[in-house]
Amino acid sequence: MAVRLQEETETSNTSPRSEMLHTALRQLENAFEGLGLAEGFREIIRQSERELTVAVPIYRDDGQISVFTGYRVQHSSARGPCKGGIRFHPGVNLEEVRALALLMTLKCAVANLPFGGAKGGVSVNPAGLSRTELERLTRRYAAMILPILGRKRDIPAPDVNTNAQTMAWLMDTVSMLDGNSTPEIATGKPVALGGSQGREEATGRGVAIATVEALKRQGRDPKEVTVAVQGFGNVGSYAAQILAEEYGAKIVAISDVSGGFYNAKGLNLKPIREHLQAHPAQLLEDYHDNGHFEQISNAELLTLEADVLIPAAIEDQITHENADQIKAGLIVEGANGPTSFEADAILRERGIHVVPDILANAGGVICSYFEWVQDLQSYFWDIDEVRQQLNRAMCRAFEEVWTFAEEHDMDMRSSAYSLAVDRVAYAIQQRGLFP
Ligand code: NAD
Repeated sequence: MAVRLQEETETSNTSPRSEMLHTALRQLENAFEGLGLAEGFREIIRQSERELTVAVPIYRDDGQISVFTGYRVQHSSARGPCKGGIRFHPGVNLEEVRALALLMTLKCAVANLPFGGAKGGVSVNPAGLSRTELERLTRRYAAMILPILGRKRDIPAPDVNTNAQTMAWLMDTVSMLDGNSTPEIATGKPVALGGSQGREEATGRGVAIATVEALKRQGRDPKEVTVAVQGFGNVGSYAAQILAEEYGAKIVAISDVSGGFYNAKGLNLKPIREHLQAHPAQLLEDYHDNGHFEQISNAELLTLEADVLIPAAIEDQITHENADQIKAGLIVEGANGPTSFEADAILRERGIHVVPDILANAGGVICSYFEWVQDLQSYFWDIDEVRQQLNRAMCRAFEEVWTFAEEHDMDMRSSAYSLAVDRVAYAIQQRGLFP
């Protein structure tokens, strides 16, 4: 069965523009300033521990040879083995991989996982490769970066344009070269090969939990709020479904790249999800429901009357151009980098509460951590156990970011970044510098 899985960061069909990375790096410098971190620690955190560039030659199906360039960057192992996805995208370059590895360090630290951050990728358009070419590319890339991988060293996962099948090939390649079965070398694998129950829904579930935790602190009952969700892919559709079915929230709007639906009385998500599951190539615009909802654009969705807005599609959706028109009082960032640096300032000024991406969408990497733990122990949890542990980990992370924000009189984004940087710097300090 083709399982659609992505790891702790990006979408399957887009590559984040440098604007998003630029924003994240500005947040990082703000956190350095706020913490008054010594320059030496700032310099350690700004740099990657290790960066590997590899040539990845493969035979094409017609017998020709193509050579692609791949990377694996380990930003930090201060808090544990490096963890991060592998993406196949023509836009992959060393600078992007380096910045994304740093963000993984911060995301793992916010969730207090015993991991550092890494990222990898190959500069390739996977749509131009056949399945067998893709398999050869994955296996050769895995062999080329193997010297720096390891179950206690660096554990990859899926990311943009890679999935559970990619991780199965990677795990098999490492297992063949090692002469041992090593499922713990990667996460986001098919369940049959040591993947975790609940991984597919984990990011959306984490977003739902973060939403409910934020509402609780505002003294609001999820059953009495309306929610608009931009992006009805993996993250958005699970977040919407879980908020509606398990917490009783009213989902008034959803969208995908083709546009969206709105019904002030609440949308019936079940048939929409079933339709999309039955027709994976289709978009929301292909779904018809005899006028039970109004068609809206993505721009309209972002600014409509709803208590909660969940941007769960792509980066840079809330910008200085629309931030002053947002009506939701709470924004929970399912996507990575949906809010620009300038928009963030406008939202803050307007008193709109934002649960930042590195906290809100950490459910995916938390479940990847569970997968790694299960693989190391060769002991597998049932879905209830996974959900319970995910709930506990998300609630704890939320509470820690919330409390840090209260104590230091800052917004949640600054708090999440500060908390993460503080944890990484503390680990570096405690370990000391070798030799
Ligand atoms: P996905 O590809 O499954 O879904 C993306 C959705 O966004 C689709 O419905 C797509 O149609 C829609 N979309 C694409 N372009 C759009 C546009 N211009 N306007 C409106 N909608 C658009 O991806 P996903 O895995 O759900 O990831 C969504 C976001 O969450 C990304 O930012 C990703 O980096 C982030 N994220 C994902 C995971 C994960 O585990 N999947 C983990 C952490 C963060």
